[in-house]
Order: sequence, then C-alpha cells, then structure tokens
Amino acid sequence: MVYLGVKFRAVLLDQNFPRDIGIDELKSWCTEFYNHGFTPEYEGGSAGNLSYRIKEGENQFIITGAGITSKAKILDNSLAQVKSCDVEKEIAYYYGRRKPSSETLAHCAIYSSRKDVNAVFHGHSEKILACADRLKLVQTNEEVPEGTGELAKAVLEALGKENFVIMKNHGFISMGRTMKEAGDQAIKIQKQCI
Ligand SMILES: [Zn+2]
Repeated sequence: MVYLGVKFRAVLLDQNFPRDIGIDELKSWCTEFYNHGFTPEYEGGSAGNLSYRIKEGENQFIITGAGITSKAKILDNSLAQVKSCDVEKEIAYYYGRRKPSSETLAHCAIYSSRKDVNAVFHGHSEKILACADRLKLVQTNEEVPEGTGELAKAVLEALGKENFVIMKNHGFISMGRTMKEAGDQAIKIQKQCI
C-alpha cells in the first residue's frame, strides 16, 4: 500500500498538548504491533495507526502521527491529539507537532458512534486478510480509498457491534474497551491464521 499523505484537512490548534497518562501504554503497543509485523515500513512512512480515547464519554483521542517511518519506537512528538472531526467535510482539528495519521477520520467515526470503544488499532497483515473468510471476520464490502470519509463510513457500516473489522485488500482495525483488549485481540487472530 503506497502512502499518499494526509487526504483530509488537518487543522492545527496548538503544537503543544498536555502529556496524558495513557501515552506510555500507546507507545508500547506501537512497539508490540511493529514486533508482530503489523506496521510494515516503506519509503517515508510505515503502515498502521494506533489511538486511544483520552476520557470516557468524550471523543478526543491520542493517535500516532502521519508519516512515521517506523513504529518500533515512537517518541512523544510523533503523536497528535485530535480534538474533533467532521467526517463529511473531511476535516480534523488537532494538537501536536505532527499531523495525525492519514486514517484519522476512521478513528473519529468509531469513537463517536461506539461509546464502548476506547482504543482503535489499525494494522496490516497479509496473513489475517488471507484467513478473514475462514474466521468469518466482518469486512468492508469493497475497496475504498484510504484516508477518506468514505472509508470511515464503510468501516462503520461493516462493523456493527463487532470489535474487529477487515478493510478489504488493505488491513484490519481491532478495537476494545482498553488498549490491551484491542492489542491482544489482533495478536490472537493473527495466531489463528498461521
Ligand atoms: Zn492502512
């Protein structure tokens, strides 16, 4: 998958934001995803993006930034805090030194419609794509361009009440009430696909 840059409009509110207590855990899940091969690297970036909801009942979240060349070891200034989005108009308002991930709109759509979800981890895995049918994993109907509001809507539509969804010919999104639930679930499904 070629990274084409952030397609939505990212509106910077402030370069700084308070350091949230969940950031260390998010960083360690980035390393974990890297170790499991979920964040393949290519020139100028790496696949996958991970986020968590800062506070239950609110939609703000912390997410990996766009164009990070490796998820092996994430630094604080590679993260962004998203305040809000307009999925229809494809706009995200954020804090940070780096734009939020190219897939921010999908994260926004999930947090606003699924109040039970507090962590959204997107990864790539040929193995999981190949066994999606066998495991009866829910999938988006068709291939939709990455980073668009259209993809965000397709993901929500396919997702329903599930916590794991395949983006057709692309990757997966694993969700949970906690980062641990989202992360462990992806690793468990990968194991079932070997
Ligand atoms: Zn992707």
